Order: sequence, then C-alpha cells, then structure tokens
Amino acid sequence: MKLNPTIKSILRPIYYRLPANICYGPLYSPTAKLLEESQRWSEERLIDYQLSKLRVMLRHCADHVPYYRRLFKEMGFDPDKVRSPADLDALPLLDKDTLQARLPEFLADNVSARNRLYFTTGGTMGKPLGLYNMRNAGGRERAFNYNQWARVGFKEGDLRAMLRGWPVKSARHWAYDASERAYIFSNFHMTRDNVAEYARVMKARKVRFLHSYPSAVIDFARHLKELGIEPPRFRAILAASENLYPGQREFIESFFDTRLFSWYGHTETTILAGECEESNCYHIFPEYGVAEVIKEGGSAASVEGDSGEMVGTSLDNFAMPLIRYRTDDWAVIGPGSCACGRNYRLLKEANGRWQQELLIGKLDNLISNTALNMHSDVFDNVQQLQFYQREKGKVELRIKRKPSYSEQDSKRIIAALSEKMGDTMEISLSFPDEIPLTPRGKFRFVIREMELPQTAGNEVSVEALPR
Ligand SMILES: [Zn+2]
Repeated sequence: MKLNPTIKSILRPIYYRLPANICYGPLYSPTAKLLEESQRWSEERLIDYQLSKLRVMLRHCADHVPYYRRLFKEMGFDPDKVRSPADLDALPLLDKDTLQARLPEFLADNVSARNRLYFTTGGTMGKPLGLYNMRNAGGRERAFNYNQWARVGFKEGDLRAMLRGWPVKSARHWAYDASERAYIFSNFHMTRDNVAEYARVMKARKVRFLHSYPSAVIDFARHLKELGIEPPRFRAILAASENLYPGQREFIESFFDTRLFSWYGHTETTILAGECEESNCYHIFPEYGVAEVIKEGGSAASVEGDSGEMVGTSLDNFAMPLIRYRTDDWAVIGPGSCACGRNYRLLKEANGRWQQELLIGKLDNLISNTALNMHSDVFDNVQQLQFYQREKGKVELRIKRKPSYSEQDSKRIIAALSEKMGDTMEISLSFPDEIPLTPRGKFRFVIREMELPQTAGNEVSVEALPR
C-alpha cells in the first residue's frame, strides 16, 4: 500500500505504538525471544545452533551465489560435510577489494532487488565499499541491540537520546523520532545555546539512555562543564562505532555518574559483540555470525591476550552472504569465561584499525568520520577519498575519481555532507591524481594538521586520541 507522505507522517507516531512484532517487522520478536533464551545456553548448544545456521547459509551460497558456487567447486568444498564452524578454515579469507571488484557475483540469484537494500561504508585505503543486505534485516538487528542493552537496564520501549551523526532537519536541531522512540539531537550543532537546550529537553522528557559516539558524548560533556550545567541523569550511556581511548571511559562515566556500555558491530553485519553487566569485555554473539580472530601470520588467535584481525561470516544476510570476511578491524582475545555466566567467547578489545579520526567544526565541535558514513550511493564514482583539515570549520575532501565521475557527483557529495555537518563546516573538493600515503606507508582517511580544542574535556587525555 502506498500512502501519501502527509498521511504517512501523521500515522507514523501511531504506527510505532503498535506492538514491536508488528512495527519492527516479522524478525524482531522471534529474534528477541531466541536471544532471551540462548544467553543461558551451554557452549555446546550454542555451537550446535550456530552450526545449523552456518550449514543453511553455506548450502544457500553453493546453490545461489555465483562467487561461492565457483569457489566451492574449485576447492572441492562440500557444505554438507561441514561438522563444525572451525571447518570454515578450509576456505580463503575474503578482502574488501575482492568483494568490491566482484560485487555482482556475491548477490544471491534468489533474492529479488525488492528484497534487498544497498548502502555504503568505509572500505580500505579510503575506498567506499558498497554492500547489500536483506531489506528486513532491521528487525533482527534491533532485537540483538535491545538484548545487549538490556544488560544495563534498557527495556523495549524505553526512550533514548541520540547524539550520533543523524541529520536533523529542524531549526532547533533536535526532533523526536517515533520509530526509534528517541529524541535525536544534532551533534553537528553543539553551540552553547543548543547544548543547554539539549540538556533541558533530555531532563524534561526523562530520557534514561543516551545513545551516542564516544567523541560526541565527550563533546557534549565538555560543553556542559564549560556552561556549568548539571548533566542529565542517564541509567546508561550506549556508545559504539568508535574506538574508546584510555581515559575516555573514565571521563564519561565520572562526569555523567553512570555506566558506559560499549559494543562492536559493523555495517556488514557479520560480527556483533558487546559488554555485559559484569565486565568490559566484548561478548561475541554466536547467534549473529561466526567470528574468528586471525593473527598476522594467518593462524587463529585463541589464547587470552593474542590479537589479530576480526574475520566474520554472516548467518543471516542471504542477499549478499559474506564468508570469512576480513573486517580490517582488530581484536584481543579475552578470558575464558565471565561472571555473568553467558557462554559467549570474549574479546578484551575490539577496535576499528583506522576508522576513527576526528574533524573540528567551527564551534570546536568534534566530528567523527564514522558519522560521515553514507547510507546511499553518493560515493559510488569515487576511487578513493580523504578528509584534509588545516583550519577549524574547513575541510578539504580529496577525491581520486573513477572515470565515471562527473560534476553531478561533486554536487551530490557536497549536498550529502552538508546535510550531515550543517553550517559548522565549509567543504571544498580537490581532485588529485594520487592521494599520498604517510611516510610510514599508511593510508589515512582523515588528516588533521591541528590540535584538538584545549578545553575542559582535556581530562580525556588528548594524547590518547588519534592524530
Ligand atoms: Zn559477561
């Protein structure tokens, strides 16, 4: 049924008051129920469950995904003979370059275009990566998130304040979003006046959870402190999508006098892992994907303290399955068990390797490049990109173009970034033939040749922030 947009916007708040199994889609409730139970399962039962899903996924790949059909045949790999998730190690790792170069071959031939969604995320070396997922994946994602947030007191239906790079099209820079049951505040407009207003609204509406990026919470706290405003009282702060640097957690938890709950997830939806009531280790959800940590030399990391790259296999993305996908993110193996009693494998750390760098807006506002990920195709004609900043409030976007790039792409990129960063950043584009690597041969997504603002937030050990 197609509804006229005005009617839709009138119905929206009513629609999202319907029970969760209706408004969040058919996958929400079964997933929520499963996770409620499976967090108490034994390790054997969890592995059995994961194995049964993995076998279904591998069979699907063999039957419907051209890339895997050929790969399995070449390697003599028989999905029906898989007896343990560890049997995956017979297959090669998949890197982002291969995925991007051969994207159409990863699409399942039995999932129609109507049933899948396209979006982009950061790839390697500044190359945006285009991906597909099932159109109905959102309900399941939501159930997983709510399940882990429940560990710090969150209940379905609880209000959140969101401060995480969502554009807000209102002159007051905040708005209520019925589908999220959240007040969304623009972290691109943290002026003194706005921050005071944000805090007032959070208190007046009795919002119990703040859902944000660490960089945005710190920015928010820094302003409140300068203004001498008592921070809103939160039951917990839910913060993911960025690395937490030493000192940041302590600063946030002491300033707001509450628990900061962190987790690792990524747009590709192969691995999800979050903290628990008892510890700051990341608990890997075996129901979500098969997670491996692969050491530099190629062997599996399994001993506490070992570190390596996170490699994930999707169990639910039938539109574009990813098997042993290299995330480019880094993890350290945690202890063998946790006081919470869940039989999930633990990671001590889980970090994006290069993803978090910060830009500084006109108002000394910190803008994380995670906030600049685009859930659209605006970067499709871009070969590589880099944000370069020398002066606050101004950023040069260096773009290495694909042959298909046109003036139209420039307009769309400027429009999309302006919508996100608002008037706190002037954006200019340049088109070098090559984007140089650092003297140590690394590619940097953001180069900022200036210090972070020297203000009250300096308890955050600025040295620890990425440069
Ligand atoms: Zn635990």
